[in-house]
Amino acid sequence: MNSFRCFACDRTQPADFTGWTCPSCGGNLDVVNDRETILQQIRQSPFDSTRIPLEIGNTPLYAAPRLGHSIGLRNLYLKDDTVSPSASSKDRASAAVVLQALQAGADIVSVASTGNAGSSLACVAAAAGIKAVVIVPESAPVAKLTQALSFGATVLAVRGTYDDAFDLCLKASTQFGWYNRSTGINPYTREGKKICAWEIWASLDGRVPDRIVVPTGDGNLLSGMWKGWRELQAVGLIDRLPRIDCAQSEGSAAITHAVHGIRSDGEPDWATIKVKPVDANTLADSISVNLPRDGLAAVRAIIESDGIAVTVPDSEILAAIPEMATTTGVFPEPAAATPWAAVKRMVAAKNISPDELVVCLVSGSGLKDVARAQEAANRPRVIEPTLTALEAELAELEA
Ligand SMILES: *Cc1c(COP(=O)(O)O)cnc(C)c1O
Ligand SMILES: [Zn+2]
Repeated sequence: MNSFRCFACDRTQPADFTGWTCPSCGGNLDVVNDRETILQQIRQSPFDSTRIPLEIGNTPLYAAPRLGHSIGLRNLYLKDDTVSPSASSKDRASAAVVLQALQAGADIVSVASTGNAGSSLACVAAAAGIKAVVIVPESAPVAKLTQALSFGATVLAVRGTYDDAFDLCLKASTQFGWYNRSTGINPYTREGKKICAWEIWASLDGRVPDRIVVPTGDGNLLSGMWKGWRELQAVGLIDRLPRIDCAQSEGSAAITHAVHGIRSDGEPDWATIKVKPVDANTLADSISVNLPRDGLAAVRAIIESDGIAVTVPDSEILAAIPEMATTTGVFPEPAAATPWAAVKRMVAAKNISPDELVVCLVSGSGLKDVARAQEAANRPRVIEPTLTALEAELAELEA
């Protein structure tokens, strides 16, 4: 790494800069890697398995022909992050941050989370032998809280929103000198998340997808995805870039609103563009965000990659869960089903042609929020334990 660059004003900070955000304008910083660093990271995984003895990243990319054919797509793939150690896409970011924290000699790593960043940090911190403090909204799904607690983190559930948790984590981390993993302000989460792009590139034997559809709340997963492809291009390993599409719930669509605003205004001036907060209300808790914490970087990624920002209603997110599960064997939580719901909308609007190579990022496991999955699933058929009863039930099913 040789410097940090601000997403808003483009000013750079030297490699030894120790603040969180841009000292000139408060914008989020991007780690600028030189060619040698990028090539070194590509050659050898930056997720040091001696310090974090877990399989971070390296998740499978599955062809999903039956799911794709159901709407006429011939080259649909799922990037299955449900099999990551804590069962979400957050583990690459947690690993990158914990390695930084260890290097900085920190005793405690902290994070504000809707649930997954917290359970992920707790998981990776347990493996690395460092303490974690997790601050979440009280409403976080019980599985995510239970994961974080089982991994031994100190879990504080605030009577408030994710945004309240974020602000409190920032204050407490400053007060107590904790190393803060919170999304957006810590530039290393993006460094972890970019590796997902490299994995997809390797799984496709060096081919570049036409588009990658990313479920989006804070926008860090999306900005990381774009960064990964841009670095591959910067070192000459690819000669074209994918579009990065943004999939959001209608009830939490701050980034989509910003993208649409810019598209109609013409040439963007990033120093003056602000992503405006919404009053988030969606059942997809992982992407329920009032003020996106990496909003500007995500908006830039969507515009620069010529991607599309799509919103879908919660009813379509719920329906997408069993559609994906029954045709692929991959079980998503609501946020992770959102890209497929968005792809269906894009195909209906003729924004995707049948031969495009489309990757949906499946960012978290359905087991993390069983209550929501249950709303979209059938109930088991309860019968007496006899063959007669079973036959009668099957006959009824056929009818
Ligand atoms: C965090 C998360 C997202 C969205 O990532 P952002 O960086 O907040 O946009 C999507 N899906 C799941 C399962 C997540 O945990
Ligand atoms: Zn700045």
